[in-house]
Amino acid sequence: MSTKNSGQEEKPLEQPGPFKQKTFACDRGCRKQISIERIKSPGQWQRRIIGKWTDGSEVEMTYFTCPHCGTEYPIAFTNSEVIKRLNGQTARQEKLKKFMQQAQQHGTKGNFQGQSKAAIKADKIYRQIMREQAALNELQQDMKGAFENDLYIQK
Ligand SMILES: [Zn+2]
Repeated sequence: MSTKNSGQEEKPLEQPGPFKQKTFACDRGCRKQISIERIKSPGQWQRRIIGKWTDGSEVEMTYFTCPHCGTEYPIAFTNSEVIKRLNGQTARQEKLKKFMQQAQQHGTKGNFQGQSKAAIKADKIYRQIMREQAALNELQQDMKGAFENDLYIQK
């Protein structure tokens, strides 16, 4: 005896990711379709100060709006600390690149002690980058959470 339910569809629902679609619905507002190009084009993004953070710094939101109803959809939140940390990350990426190149150069010259030293430094920086990225993500999530109730404003 078969336990299969022949009346049931076993095929999974096809749900393309948001960036595979050409449009997405304005689900916080009018529910009309918004072109994906609008989200992917930084030239169409807007920025404004939305409030102050716990350290007294201004929080800036980067967002795009629904062309039909003006509902705002945030893309990123930044304050002076986020900017400082992003700059720190850029500097660390540069250092990482430098130590990785050093390790490679020492390796090709047969200087395995030098290679190992540079590789250890690169590894240390890499771990710093990962830790800092997690802290940065957490900070930006906190900001999103703190300001979310004031967002998605319908004009
Ligand atoms: Zn809308």
